[in-house]
Amino acid sequence: MKKSQLIYHYIREQQAVSKQDIVVGLKLSLPTITHNLQYLEELHLIDTSDKIRNTGGRNATAYSYVKNARAAIGLYLTAHHINCVSVDLSGDVIQMIRRKRDFNLDDDGYLQEIGVIVEEVKRKSKIKDKDFLGVGISVPGLVSQDGEIVTYGMTLNFGGRTREGIAKYIPYRNKLFHDSIAAGYAEVWKEQDIQNAFYLSLSNSVGGAALFDKKIYEGNSQKGGEVGHMTVVPEGGEQCYCGRKGCFDTVCRSTLLDQYTDGNLERFFGLLDAGDAEAVRLWDKYLDNLSLGIHNLRMLFDSDIILGGYVGAYIEKYMEDLCDRIDTRNPFGDPAREYLVPCKYKVEAAAAGAAIHFIDEFFESI
Ligand SMILES: [Zn+2]
Repeated sequence: MKKSQLIYHYIREQQAVSKQDIVVGLKLSLPTITHNLQYLEELHLIDTSDKIRNTGGRNATAYSYVKNARAAIGLYLTAHHINCVSVDLSGDVIQMIRRKRDFNLDDDGYLQEIGVIVEEVKRKSKIKDKDFLGVGISVPGLVSQDGEIVTYGMTLNFGGRTREGIAKYIPYRNKLFHDSIAAGYAEVWKEQDIQNAFYLSLSNSVGGAALFDKKIYEGNSQKGGEVGHMTVVPEGGEQCYCGRKGCFDTVCRSTLLDQYTDGNLERFFGLLDAGDAEAVRLWDKYLDNLSLGIHNLRMLFDSDIILGGYVGAYIEKYMEDLCDRIDTRNPFGDPAREYLVPCKYKVEAAAAGAAIHFIDEFFESI
């Protein structure tokens, strides 16, 4: 890591530090630090307007980082919504728009709408062009490593589509991302305590991402983590959208729950909490299947497991029941409540993760 990056990240982590703190913390010479602080100030990345109060002697200048010095935008295109967020340098969402619009890449109006929403979020976030890093676009499908083409898009039948086509009305740097990978990355990026994790996305389809040492494990052909197609029902399983039977997707996609409430998952959980017999029955079966998947992931990776996606946003309340079911499967006795966590971002993780790519890229350039 370059000295300028080291110093920048040190200030980011410590919030507000004096020059002397940096000398002690990073063991760099004073001239090196002074030189690099000047450089970071010129980029408007650090703020020096505060003082650190010393008992006796002069008050020292406090160096703190400016989290809104740059920003990026992330989109998440799903079957029925266009989700768009802007994210600052700390990964916090500045603005969010979630608009109901059916996915249709053949409709020029749809592509234009994407462009309009990006502009709207950018304007509302008050991002100046010179501070704007780019637009990440998450899609529910597999994407080539360079972010240029959808290599597998069975969920919405859009395999083979290109970034250029999807981003026709986005006049900024942009890149495509696989939604589960982007979402998993966003969850781990902000968490100091999490190094190794499996992110399990429980939405209209089931997906996932393995992260080791905070880095995505993509596998040999970018299909690492595609747990939705693990076969978990050996015989007599339901048909998956991939064409095979008994995939994990067929027992843990969110639609198994909200098909009971016309696609409204919030209402499903409302009925569940009210004790509705059918909702209770569906949930019981769902949790059993989910505990099986989580157990297998734990056996495979011995890592933290983050529950995300539509169901992950509601899971907090039901963690105890879920953890108990997982623990009965575990031969080693490590309790699920110590490694299983609900997602932090609720709906916007896939969009935020795509934006964070541009933040990382910016950090590399400092
Ligand atoms: Zn499948």
